[in-house]
Amino acid sequence: MKSRVMVQVADRRIEPDEHEVPPVGPKEALLRVEACGLCGSDVEQYRGNFAAKGIMRYPVIPGHEPVGRIAEIGKEAARSWGVAVGDRVALEPHLSCGRCELCLGGAYHNCRALMPPGAPPCYGYTPRDVGHGLWGGYSEYIHLHERTMLHKVPETMPLALALLYQPIAAGIRWAVHVPETTMGDTVLILGHGQRGLGAVVAAREAGARTVIVTGTSRSAYKLRLAEALGADHTIDAPFGAN
Ligand SMILES: [Zn+2]
Ligand SMILES: [Zn+2]
Repeated sequence: MKSRVMVQVADRRIEPDEHEVPPVGPKEALLRVEACGLCGSDVEQYRGNFAAKGIMRYPVIPGHEPVGRIAEIGKEAARSWGVAVGDRVALEPHLSCGRCELCLGGAYHNCRALMPPGAPPCYGYTPRDVGHGLWGGYSEYIHLHERTMLHKVPETMPLALALLYQPIAAGIRWAVHVPETTMGDTVLILGHGQRGLGAVVAAREAGARTVIVTGTSRSAYKLRLAEALGADHTIDAPFGAN
């Protein structure tokens, strides 16, 4: 079976292609991608910022925020992940080792154990010529490695909403976990992009008393959206490009 894929072959160049879908081992699975979120880093990746820094190389199938259904799954993977064929899931991008000090301490996104060897341990950034190559969400299928961390998506949740899982997760980490936001705090959020808006939701849920969001009037509707999501104050801060 072949998967249709979009491959970034150079800075600002993404081309359609086909890619052989490898067989699924007992600890692996195959995800049929339904949709893939678009991240600020997708833009940087497209422009070539990561290739220029030497942290990623071409060719690569981008896309690290996929939501899809399990199309095929090995016995051991089904048992350890608790999912079955047909389940809708959202992927964490990192293929962390799960054993090192960072992983065991909860900072698995900083895991240093590269997997596969010599490549960034991440869906959407691992080059196409590493291993089976089917590592990105701009594809009909992703081959799921045994290190995959995934989350079941409720059937009642519309797909478009499910795709916000990463901005919301980042909001929880950046606006609540890292700064240890708690009841009664005042939170200032710089930027009203999808992550900034995710941070508004998270800060509100954590019990922050006052939530302030900065943005630019160029996209004033996002400041209004921040207010609708619970921001107490919004500030038009016209600095730099966003
Ligand atoms: Zn992302
Ligand atoms: Zn690790």
